[in-house]
Amino acid sequence: MRVGICGAGQLGRMLALAGHPIGVTCVCYARSADEPGCAVGEFEIGAWDDEPALDRFAARIDVATYEFENVPLGAVQRIAATRPVAPSLLALETAADRVHEKTLFRRLGIETAPFAAIDSQEELERAVSTIGLPAVLKTRRMGYDGKGQRVLRAPEDVAGAFAALGSRPCILEGFVAFERELSVIGVRGRDGATRVYPLFANTHEDAILRVTIAPAPGTSPQLVDAAHRAITSILGALDYVGALALELFQVGDRVLANEMAPRVHNTGHLTIEAADTSQFENHLRAVAGLPLGSTDIQGHAGMVNLIGTLPDPASLLAIPGAHLHLYGKAPRPGRKVGHVTVTALDPGARDARLEDVLRVVRASG
Ligand code: AMP
Repeated sequence: MRVGICGAGQLGRMLALAGHPIGVTCVCYARSADEPGCAVGEFEIGAWDDEPALDRFAARIDVATYEFENVPLGAVQRIAATRPVAPSLLALETAADRVHEKTLFRRLGIETAPFAAIDSQEELERAVSTIGLPAVLKTRRMGYDGKGQRVLRAPEDVAGAFAALGSRPCILEGFVAFERELSVIGVRGRDGATRVYPLFANTHEDAILRVTIAPAPGTSPQLVDAAHRAITSILGALDYVGALALELFQVGDRVLANEMAPRVHNTGHLTIEAADTSQFENHLRAVAGLPLGSTDIQGHAGMVNLIGTLPDPASLLAIPGAHLHLYGKAPRPGRKVGHVTVTALDPGARDARLEDVLRVVRASG
């Protein structure tokens, strides 16, 4: 089975690595041969509007998937003309637009912050008068790691805010005073079989994910149930095939859905070492029409992103139980260049190992 991956970043690289042992060969569609995914397997070079390259890519694969959600529609349609694509175009399009995804969440009875679509400064001012302040103004499309958004705290922040985000279609969301950020990853096979990983608890620094731990500690049955119901209802509603990540804000025993990613997700990286089947392998199994694997996590796991600078790998490898993943990317401020996963049988031992990793990471600047 040959799976084409639109994109060749670290997610494409980890998908390709997960495919090897189960007989799935991945072909990454890359802009250049020095992208992370190209170092570990097959690839095709091309731009998203390069139709001959897209056709060569399609000819080399049995089925296509993505490693990021902003693949231009035209490119996916070109591939879909000759090869099955999973997740579906509907899933991709829904996730690419913050208003579409929140509208879907609401339709499925999943709580969200109050929100309004914004196409002008006047609409923004009207929405602020109903949603109130503080609020968060975000571009509807192409936002990630806190880019393309600003928090509006006082009336003077509202003036000029629409233009400051480029006068592009936006969404205004009520500010959620959450206790913590969680995520849940579910995977659905071609036969509709669905598995959900335990909840992940996430900590961000400068709006970029720094640490994930799993299973999230201190979760009540109501909270777990709400997260499970949310992810399974989205998977079902979109007739989804593959892994889907849902980012959540926890407020008491409630979860409010923030956004979804129709792909494997940074918060699920620790499943490589900690889960019976990693998110990468399960995504490939789903897309390739193979049976899904168990999503149980054994023990307690933590993951630290390496952002902006690369600590000395030897210092990280010297930490007992540390699993290092380097993406082969040149360090640049704000850029994810790798991650480290630790596992342990009890949360205290996991936290001690996480602290060791964070000490090395902080020492490297
Ligand atoms: P996003 O790009 O939607 O994932 O937002 C990036 C980060 O901004 C989130 O991880 C939150 O920490 C914060 N954030 C986003 N939306 C809201 C909101 N409506 N209320 C409070 N914080 C938010």
